[in-house]
Amino acid sequence: MRIGAMIGDVSRALFKRPATELYPFERRKAPARLRGLLAFEPSRCTGCKICMRDCPARALELVVVDKATKRFAMKFHADRCTYCAQCVVSCNFDALSMSHEQWELAGLAREQFLHTFGRDEDLAVLREREAASRPGQGV
Ligand code: SF4
Ligand code: SF4
Repeated sequence: MRIGAMIGDVSRALFKRPATELYPFERRKAPARLRGLLAFEPSRCTGCKICMRDCPARALELVVVDKATKRFAMKFHADRCTYCAQCVVSCNFDALSMSHEQWELAGLAREQFLHTFGRDEDLAVLREREAASRPGQGV
């Protein structure tokens, strides 16, 4: 490159707006079709487990809270998920969707990638079960 052309490029670049963004201080709205965090609607779930069967990454675990009353929760391993949305397509009851608003899913600890979705009262039952199954807590 000739020195004159180079000086021209440099001086133009000095007065241009930066191409980079000031993330995380400035956030653009995510596109509506972006596949972010999974969302689970427990009132629609029948417990058929088709989503689990079709997930290529084994990122889903359906948890039966009470089969008789059709109460289910869903464990979602965000660190295994490939965000392919196959589970959303496979669910015949529209119980799964992917949020385009919740997409900042990075974390420093592995536990941060495990999300458990369900009704508040069902999640409380699961916490009690987990506490009871810890060593020294059993009956
Ligand atoms: S496919 Fe849908 S209805 Fe069936 S277990 Fe999964 S979320 Fe529930
Ligand atoms: S988006 Fe794909 S990888 Fe993630 S849980 Fe659903 S089926 Fe599995």
